[in-house]
This record gives sequence, C-alpha cells and structure tokens, in this order.
Amino acid sequence: MPFSALGLSPALIHSATAMGFVAPTPIQEAAIPAILRGADVVGSAQTGSGKTAAFALPLLQRLHAGSPHTPRRVRALVLVPTRELAAQVGEVVRSLAQHLPQPVKVAVVFGGVSINPQMMGLRGGADVVVATPGRLLDLVEHNALQLANVNLLVLDEADRLLDLGFAEELQRTLALLPQQRQNLFFSATFPAAVQTLAEGLLTDPVRVAVADTPANEPSIAQRAIAVDASRRTQLLRHLVQEHQWSRVLVFVATQYAAEHVAEKLYKAGIFATPFHGGLSQGARKQVLQEFKDDRWQVVVTTDLAARGIDIAQLPAVVNYDLPRSAVDYVHRIGRTGRAGESGVAVSFVTADAEAHFRLIEKRQHLSLPREQIPGFEPTEVPPEATAASTGGIKGKRPSKKDKLRAAAAAAQAAKGQD
Ligand code: AMP
Repeated sequence: MPFSALGLSPALIHSATAMGFVAPTPIQEAAIPAILRGADVVGSAQTGSGKTAAFALPLLQRLHAGSPHTPRRVRALVLVPTRELAAQVGEVVRSLAQHLPQPVKVAVVFGGVSINPQMMGLRGGADVVVATPGRLLDLVEHNALQLANVNLLVLDEADRLLDLGFAEELQRTLALLPQQRQNLFFSATFPAAVQTLAEGLLTDPVRVAVADTPANEPSIAQRAIAVDASRRTQLLRHLVQEHQWSRVLVFVATQYAAEHVAEKLYKAGIFATPFHGGLSQGARKQVLQEFKDDRWQVVVTTDLAARGIDIAQLPAVVNYDLPRSAVDYVHRIGRTGRAGESGVAVSFVTADAEAHFRLIEKRQHLSLPREQIPGFEPTEVPPEATAASTGGIKGKRPSKKDKLRAAAAAAQAAKGQD
C-alpha cells in the first residue's frame, strides 16, 4: 500500500518520501487512517516499527487542519520517558513538518539540563511539545507553557514511563488537559499497570499491533553463550573480531562496568566507549552521534540505551550482564534487527546467571541452546539456589531514580506536616 492511500496530505507524503520512506510500515498502515479519523488508538509497538511516524504524520495533518492560533498554543503533546527519545521524536516531527505550507513549531523539553533555554524556546508558544513528564510540569509551574488547548495527546513508550516512576507526573499532567481530546497510546508491553493506565485514558480505542515483539521476529537471531564471568571481556573481544561486527551495543549492569569493559576493549585495540547516565547530556549526545558516524565500533552501556535509541544498522547486541527482567531483555535486543535488517542478540550466561536466564526464556517462550565457544568453555558450576527461589526477576527492585523520588516525596510529606 502506498502512503497516498492513507489519506495524508501531499506535503506530508513529500516529507516522508524525502526521509526515504517508500511505503508505510504495518503500524503506519494500521494507525494512520484511524488517527486521521479522530479515533483514540492503542498501539502495541516497539521502537523500530516506524511508530514515531505512525503518530507524527497524522498528528501534523490534524494540527494543520485546525485553525492556527496567535500566539501559538500547544495543541499536541507527546510524552516520552527519556531525554534521548524526546530529542529523537522531536527531530522526526520537525523533519516531517518541513514541507507543510504553514510552519509548525515543535518544542522539545526534558530534564537534566538547564530549564532557562527551554523557557526561552517556549516564548511565543509552540504547536507541538515533546516532553519528559517531570520537566513538562516544571515548565507549567513556571508559566512557560499551558496545556489547556491540547487536543491530541500521545503517550509514547507508556510502559517505560511507568517503569521510570512517572505515574504521578502523568496523572498530574492529565489533570491539566482538556477532557475533550484524542489520545494515542503506544507501548511495547502491556503489563497490568500499563493496561489500567490505557483503560483510564482511552475511549473506544482502535487497537493496532505489529505482528510481534522483536524477541519473536525472525530477523533477530538470539544466542546464549555459556561462559565464566571472568572470561566475558575476552570472549566479547573474540566475538567482535571474529564476526567483524561493524557496530555493537554491549549491555552491562552498572556504570562502573560500562567504564571498565569499554576501557579493557579499548586497550585491546577495539574502538569502544562507555555510555551511561553518569555522563553529561552533552557527552551522551556526542557518543551517540559518534557511534552513528562510525567513530566507535563498540558502545558499552547500561540500560539507559535499551529503549528508544534509533541506531540504524546495528548488527549486534550483547548482553554482557543479563537484563533484570524479560521486558528489559525485549527492549535491549530490539536495538538490533531494526527496519527489516537482520541482527544478532548474544547473551552471556554465567553459572550464577543461569537460573535467571531460564526465567527470562520462560517469559519470552524461548529456549536457546547454551553454546560454548572453543577456548572459552565454562568451568564454573551453577549454584544450588535458583533465581526463582531467591525472588529472581519477579520482584522488581526500586531503581536509584525510584529511591530518589521516594526520598523526595517523603521529604515533601514531612515538610507538609511541619
Ligand atoms: P521508529 O520505530 O519510529 O523508531 O522508527 C524506526 C526506524 O524506521 C527509523 O529509522 C525510521 O526513520 C524508519 N522508518 C519509519 N517509517 C519508515 C517507512 N515507512 N519506511 C522505511 N523506514 C521507516
């Protein structure tokens, strides 16, 4: 089906073509006509499916159909979980808007950087705001923007928004929006909390789903390699060299490990660099850009990069440390095999992590043979106790951010009692 069959304006089709989109992806085919009709939509979609354009194209068309305000008032709000995703979505919306007869002002706001430039940027209003929830509310409190004219709300990566502890900010934001509006809800996974959020938000939604999660897509080959914990860096080096992967994203559990593993690889002659939340926003942006520009062959990251980051042509993802949950596993491996390309996702399974990986496999309905690589055969034996008996992945421990939020909430409550 061509883009022209979806009901989009010629200017938007022109922009999509200019971005190299020849035909709509399945999610675009399903979502665009429904959104143009004004329906609420709930989409089960991963980054990589083309979901950003699936909401951005009809969003721009509906915006364009409405009467322009002077000064500009925010008519479309896109909430996203991370700064990186905010920047990425903002860029896509701007690119798709470039051939429209009337200019569209897109403001991208996120925390972790100074609020002042964002406040300046919002002077004169904006048509579309792409935001992380905390900074959005800060800006509302500073009277830098108001949300009373929003008639289209997009929640992108709703599961991640909840994972990151944004539930309260979301409810506060929803209370600021007009009742009458169109809601678009995208999530890679639909655990109970996400479903409840969707049910509370959507009216008679059209459901769109792409065939399956990347975990089950044939374009991603999944491998599990049994290896001793102490040999993982050498094995990684061996695999990178043997397969001549042009780009590899390696996931580790901590910022320290990201630094440490990247340094070891670098010293061994592989262009590797760390990426994690301890780096400044500028440094993170630079690493991503340099990765895209082939300056780095390997980026060693915490789960910060597991979602939302769009790096085309990423042939391999390596779980050096296993993810905490099956959901994180899906998001990590979904970084490869994007937009129809093939990719490989390799998990290192140490003896200690064997039971944990079995739980992930169970949740993903997977059963991967444990490969052994000659020269790296494991010598350690799995311990008696299994992850299942010790709590394993089921009970999600609060992240550092969750703890900070809880501490801030407690301090606020204590202040209220004074
Ligand atoms: P997303 O799921 O929105 O992160 O998009 C994943 C990738 O697919 C991005 O690099 C997009 O530029 C690309 N993309 C989106 N729509 C299409 C399309 N119709 N044809 C080809 N590539 C697309």
